[in-house]
Amino acid sequence: MVSRAPRIGSKHSLPDLDLKNSGVNVMVGLEIHQQLASQSKLFCECNNKGAEHPTLTFVRRLRPALSELGVYDPAALFEATKMKSIRYHSHPSTSCLVEADEEPPHSVDRESLKTALILAMALHSKVVDEIHVMRKIVIDGSNTTGFQRTMLIATGGYLELEGNRKVGVQGVCLEEDAARLLSDDNITREYSLDRLGTPLVEIALEPMSGTPQEVLQVAVTLGRLLRASKRVERGIGTIRQDINISVNGGSVVEIKGIQQLDQLIKVIEFETARQCGLIQIAAELSQRRISHPSEHNEDEIHEFAVENMTDILRGSSSKAVTRILEREDTQFVAIKADGFDGILGYEPYVGVRLGRQLAEIVRFYGLGGIFHSDELPNYGITESEVAAIKDRLNLINGRDAFILIGGDRDRVQFAADAIIQRMNQATRGVVPETRAATLDGKTIFIRPRPGSSRMYPETDVLPIKIDDLILESLKGSVPKSFDSYIQDLMQRYQLNQKLALEIFDSDRLKLFEDIVKNTKVQPTFVASKITEDLTSLRRKGLDTDRLSDQTIKIAFQLLDEGDIAKESIPVILETMLMKDLDDVKQAIQLLGLEQISDTEVNEIIDKIITDNMALIKEKGRDSLGTLMGRSMSLLRGRVDGKKVSSILKSKLEQGLSRVK
Ligand SMILES: [Zn+2]
Repeated sequence: MVSRAPRIGSKHSLPDLDLKNSGVNVMVGLEIHQQLASQSKLFCECNNKGAEHPTLTFVRRLRPALSELGVYDPAALFEATKMKSIRYHSHPSTSCLVEADEEPPHSVDRESLKTALILAMALHSKVVDEIHVMRKIVIDGSNTTGFQRTMLIATGGYLELEGNRKVGVQGVCLEEDAARLLSDDNITREYSLDRLGTPLVEIALEPMSGTPQEVLQVAVTLGRLLRASKRVERGIGTIRQDINISVNGGSVVEIKGIQQLDQLIKVIEFETARQCGLIQIAAELSQRRISHPSEHNEDEIHEFAVENMTDILRGSSSKAVTRILEREDTQFVAIKADGFDGILGYEPYVGVRLGRQLAEIVRFYGLGGIFHSDELPNYGITESEVAAIKDRLNLINGRDAFILIGGDRDRVQFAADAIIQRMNQATRGVVPETRAATLDGKTIFIRPRPGSSRMYPETDVLPIKIDDLILESLKGSVPKSFDSYIQDLMQRYQLNQKLALEIFDSDRLKLFEDIVKNTKVQPTFVASKITEDLTSLRRKGLDTDRLSDQTIKIAFQLLDEGDIAKESIPVILETMLMKDLDDVKQAIQLLGLEQISDTEVNEIIDKIITDNMALIKEKGRDSLGTLMGRSMSLLRGRVDGKKVSSILKSKLEQGLSRVK
């Protein structure tokens, strides 16, 4: 059956989705994971900070017991097919036998439990009577045990937003963080155990509709409430946002690992366009009346034909092809995509193509990507090779397409099955799956969405009863509203509102308070250097996270002791980043910013007066501005500007009296 729909060109793309005027209804559920500022891990007494070089290594094979998975869980089966071994790296200061799964968990860290209860109360959430530790099956190796321990602390409640608005809370959990991923290739995945077991609070909000900016505002408000408790970690990587997102009531896609707030907006925009694009692709397929059984019944799969193409491509002039076929036990297969001509390259929105979605899936199996007929001949694959492939598939030009994949024999088999499944799903639009956020605000496929039946009781830890007395005793620690916190900062440090907000939102509030407490430097000055100046360095493309709190503190101590001038602080910090220095004093030396003696200052200013007598004669006191400029160009950063100004004024008076 030949489609009557016009062939869709792959070369033209429509403009990006205009979210405001599209009539698309986006629902977003925010889920945040916040590390707690505790002294120890959740189920042992190990330090959860400080990444020492690992001294111990052990290897485990990833082998999920299918019986434990219970009800069919596509994610578990999916991971199980990847057959990797996992290597763990540890150091005795940050992990013990508990992390290595050689010893049962100890009792729950009390401080972390208190924090979770306090945050639940701040969200008006109903605390459960008895807390049970549960095991949540994790099959990617990020937990040595094969599960993550989690506790439901409270359900329901709401987060207050500006203007008397609210967003509902689904639940508050206390859980252990996973191990830190170091590397992942086709054979081995490596993790560091330093982060494993670090206490996290997970807060899930009800799905909300709204613009990406409104969702961002909710995330910001929740983050501020958490930080106002002073019981959570700050800084990059200490808070992670996951979102559940769906358009027009379609399938829900879970996006993991959004670490920065500006990334959140981009991810929502990209994912909305991606989902709308998939719906349009499905509509186009349906218009062509491609009636695959799966369109009506999810369990039935249309078996697209798969043929081996290794012999056709052996000796190909394509580098991408020969790189694969040079290796042993590799193959190329082509999948015949009945009725898909033009669909794989069709791009309803920028960057949204079915071909690209399929390429993401084969990457999961460790293959580099796909070639498809909408983009061939290209990449060194010739017209005659394409014709031979089409011929073997009995492909009808102008109606059918093909997808070509190559790599290790067994991986190609898995990937071909996954592609066939995905092409069946293409007729239904958005596929429920788990995706990861990329740093530039896009999303990529990680795995199908896990089923919901993955929790088992942890028998090694006793349930914890929570009574009213405990809750009553914690009431005083429930964070004040964010507004009153800002008022408090403004009053205590005489900051204006803008600076108080900026210092609160920055990751360096503690550092600010520390510097103000231990030096005589004006709080306003400290706050503006730590916020505005660091922001402008970031805008210059410098990674200010590399400046440790200790470094910044030393710079302010030197200022306090009169070793450097105020003006030098930003110059020093910039130089340290540009030249990759760790030592403040080294930067000072490099810049020649050592304070100079009063005698030297006087000599320099005397010379400026002498050199400019003509100007002084002509302009009198009006020459001060010019003279100040000339003095500062020689002295900036080495002497306080006020001091230069005062010396200059008196010397100018002397000079004027000489002229008269
Ligand atoms: Zn430990």
